[in-house]
Order: sequence, then structure tokens, then C-alpha cells
Amino acid sequence: MEQVLLLTPGPTPLHPRAVAALQWPMRGHMDPEVFAYNDRIVADLHTLYQTGGEGLTCLLSGTGSLGMEAGLANLLEPSDSVLIISNGVFGERMAEMAQRLGARVSVVRAPFGLGIDLAEVSSAAERVRPKLIAAVHGETSTGVLNPIPEIGEIAREVGALYSVDAVTTVGMLEFKMQAWGIDYAYTGSQKCLSAPPGLAPVAYSARALAAISTRKTPVVTWYSDALGMLGYWEPGQQGRKYHHTVPVQLHWATGEAIRAALEEGIPARSERVRTVAAAALAAMRTVGFEPFVSEAIRLPTVLAVRLPPGLDDAHVRHRLRHDHFISITGGLGETAGKIWRLGLMGETARPEHYRALLVALAEILGEPRLPVVFDQALPTAALAA
Ligand SMILES: *Cc1c(COP(=O)(O)O)cnc(C)c1O
Repeated sequence: MEQVLLLTPGPTPLHPRAVAALQWPMRGHMDPEVFAYNDRIVADLHTLYQTGGEGLTCLLSGTGSLGMEAGLANLLEPSDSVLIISNGVFGERMAEMAQRLGARVSVVRAPFGLGIDLAEVSSAAERVRPKLIAAVHGETSTGVLNPIPEIGEIAREVGALYSVDAVTTVGMLEFKMQAWGIDYAYTGSQKCLSAPPGLAPVAYSARALAAISTRKTPVVTWYSDALGMLGYWEPGQQGRKYHHTVPVQLHWATGEAIRAALEEGIPARSERVRTVAAAALAAMRTVGFEPFVSEAIRLPTVLAVRLPPGLDDAHVRHRLRHDHFISITGGLGETAGKIWRLGLMGETARPEHYRALLVALAEILGEPRLPVVFDQALPTAALAA
């Protein structure tokens, strides 16, 4: 099969170390070498999420949405009240999951592409007194970055647990679970880490684990029960307990991808995102693309751009995919046909990849200046890196 360059907001191109790890020899899920490798993943996830070393970090066998569902299922019992902050598709997904779990759901909404009104969150929290507040850090459907530390302060004021969707942020941008008062956070292996899809790296605070162990009712989904995960991921008095057959190859690949992220360092990764995004935007603006989200609330890892008037969205993306082997993503729901969402997570945020996109767009649109402006806007240092 041909290589296709994925410049989508997930999945992202695989990190070479993740690809190599997929070839490692098979082991059983109760093998001592697997446990030793898992222990390193646990420690690395504490560093990645900045947990302060407390609580449980582990991998769930499923994608980011399983991470989302597991948090809600563990932290909520039927008829518990939850306040969800939503300004996009993933906020709405949380609300639907919480509804299905039998929680009493309140939602503070903002229109797609706009920021959350913190005064509204605060007054809803005072009124509802939720057991849990849940928010999305970077809304992939619109490219909006939500005020996670500030919502954390509101959660603290009303004594609520706090769950954060870190899918587009952790591993690429600063994420301070402990300092921001977060009790549960999750991501998906195929987003900022550039590992294959199939695992959800998650983190529970000590306070979250205490709340789970004093539940009145068992967690409704057996597979995601955090206490079951604890038995497998941490040695108890009788050692480690079988829970389910973990996908060992995906553990290797995701473990290596996490290592690569920590070795590069989050400041260097954030810088890579900012440089490439700024240069791509500078070039695309010259032919009429405009940012969809105002600068103050723009998510660095998903660049949403409004299409120039008259641009044939489906045609251009078809040509990119079929003639140039480049995949990019359009809008979702009400933004379909109006915006593109360019991914800058993990291995997508490389100058050579975005240069390839601009060369292809130059050809399709008959605008040869595109890569020239990109090169000029990109500091020489970034190209050499
Ligand atoms: C991709 C994504 C998810 C869901 O992840 P899947 O791996 O597709 O299940 C959840 N939240 C956000 C913000 C995402 O971008």
C-alpha cells in the first residue's frame, strides 16, 4: 500500500520507535517482562500527566472514547449529578455517555467555535452542586482551547471531582494534573503520542480512587472498573491479578511513543507545534484561508481554518488524497464544508509534512507562492531540526 501523509487531528503518523516496537516478540499478558515494561509506562504517565506521583496511571484497552466513558462510569453512580462543559462534538459525547449511565446531567454550552463563559460555569456549579465536573481541554471539532485551570478552581470551590479530556493536549502541550486540581484525565494513543490507535492512557488522582472505593453501587461496566485495573497494574498482596488480555504489542508501541515524547520534552514539542502552525497559517492566509477561532482561545494542536469563498472543499480534499497522498479533515456537523481541521499533534507537527501539504495545495489551487511564504515564515532553525 502507498504511504499516505496523515495531517488529520488523529490518527497521526506513527513515531518510528512505535513502529519498531510493533515487531518486538510476543509475550503473555502475565509475563514478568510485560509487568516490568508496564511499570515503566506507569511511571512515565505520572510524569506526562504531572500527577505528583499519586493515584493510578495505566492503559485502558480501547480508544480515547473508552477513556472518556471509563471516567464517567467510575466517578458517577446512577442519579449522581454531573456538570458538563460543552462547546463541540466531544463535549456532547460526554453528555450522552453520562445520560446513558443514568446520571443527572447538566450542561453549560457555548456555540461551536466560541469560548466557555466561566461566570456561567460558576453559577451552574453553585446551583447544581455536582459530584463531578467534566470538560474537554482541546475541542478537536472546532479547534478551541478551554480554560482548564480556571474550571478546576470552580470545581474546588464546590467540592466536585474534576475530569478532563486531554486527548489533543497531553504529550504535546503542558498538562498539570495535580496543580490544576484534576481527578481524572485521559487521552488516546493515536493522537499526541503518534502510536497506533487502540489504547487509552489514563490517570486517576488519589481522591478519585478513594471516591471509587467507597461507591454504594458497583461500576456498571465491569471492563472499565478502575479497581480491576488497579489489581492488574499494581502488585497487591497476592501479586498481580489477571483482568483481561492486554494488547501487548500496543503496550510496547505506546510505551515507546511515551518515552520518545518525554525524551524530546514538552517545551520542545509545543514549540514545534507553534512554529509549524504559524508558518502554515501565514502561507494559507495569502490565498484567503482565515483562522476559525480567535487567537486567545485557539487550540495549538488542531488548526481550524475557514475556507476561502468559492473553494470546492470536497474536490480539493479528494485531489490531495488521490493525487498527492495527503489526508486532511474537513468540518464536523455545522462546520462541514466551511472549515478544514489541520492536525498538529505528535508526528504531524513537522515542517517537512506541512511543506508537502503547501506544495500540493500550490499545484491544486494554482498558487505557487504557498510553499515560498511557508519557508519564509518558518525560522531556519525549525527547518534544520
Ligand atoms: C479523538 C478524540 C476523542 C475520542 O477518541 P477516539 O480515540 O476516537 O475514541 C475524544 N476526545 C477528543 C477531544 C478527541 O479529539
